[in-house]
Amino acid sequence: MKIGVLALQGDFIEHVRFLEKLGARLVAIRKPDELAGLDGLVIPGGESTTMVGLMHSYGLFQPLKELIRSGLPVMGTCAGMILLARKVSNPDMDTLAVMDITVKRNAFGRQADSFEIELDVPSLGEKSFPAVFIRAPFVEDTGSQVKVLARLPDGSIVAARQGNLLALAFHPELGHDARFHRYFLGMVASHLMDTGKQEAAIPAD
Ligand code: GLN
Repeated sequence: MKIGVLALQGDFIEHVRFLEKLGARLVAIRKPDELAGLDGLVIPGGESTTMVGLMHSYGLFQPLKELIRSGLPVMGTCAGMILLARKVSNPDMDTLAVMDITVKRNAFGRQADSFEIELDVPSLGEKSFPAVFIRAPFVEDTGSQVKVLARLPDGSIVAARQGNLLALAFHPELGHDARFHRYFLGMVASHLMDTGKQEAAIPAD
């Protein structure tokens, strides 16, 4: 499996470390020609406005948007979630707009702008997931095709999936729990099967 990690800005190295451990082949994406032959893509955390600006200056914005629209599986974490969202508030900004969610940036205010919490994520099993939030967004609204994967105790949506798109408000790459990365590779494997490209090979524990 060949997985690209958008490496314009932000904490992409940690994603590379996790996914390589799970047996994926990783490519750092900075230029449009590096998108060829990808089976999946990770958009990491960082600063979403900076990342969008760099995507435009590197000529990546439009090719990426088309690739995602054509069905490429993507995991967007924190700023990556913002970039996937169809609509953004606090303030509004230009995004790839490929996922039917409305996301509020820096949604936790100054007091709680960084925190860690054990999240209940039924799709990952019974054990809770240690989620690190750093100046994180949350999902304010979802379209009918979106499945909510996790909420905070106050009900805020912080993990969601729509088909081949996985959006997480927190940083699964900071810590030692690889279950979200494994879940994402499972999505990639199913997509490869569906498109008849390869037998599914979901990495073992
Ligand atoms: N606050 C950042 C933004 O709005 C996201 C923070 C992060 O990715 N950790 O883009």
